[in-house]
Amino acid sequence: MREEIRRWAAKLKVKPRRVQIQRMTTKWASCSTSGRICFNMELLDEPASFREVVIVHELLHLLVPNHGKLFKSLMNAYLPEWEARSAGRVSRLCGTSGAHSRSDRTR
Ligand SMILES: [Zn+2]
Repeated sequence: MREEIRRWAAKLKVKPRRVQIQRMTTKWASCSTSGRICFNMELLDEPASFREVVIVHELLHLLVPNHGKLFKSLMNAYLPEWEARSAGRVSRLCGTSGAHSRSDRTR
């Protein structure tokens, strides 16, 4: 999984300060404003196609810290099928501070 993250970080030209893979209870991942990203260990048991959605989502937060129009259009540009792949699990996709409450309402 770290390899997948590295590949996407290079593609998106972002440099996460720190990437952790750990046990998380409610979210698939989270991203802090300081550039630290945490992924839920359970992703290792998920299909690679879903894992990829979460990885791209979190890495894009390093470019766009919210879920506004720009964020969505970048998601659509890099992973056009992300919504289908996440199969309704978008709501617990990430716990990025401040970014989510707004977009959770419009999902
Ligand atoms: Zn997010």
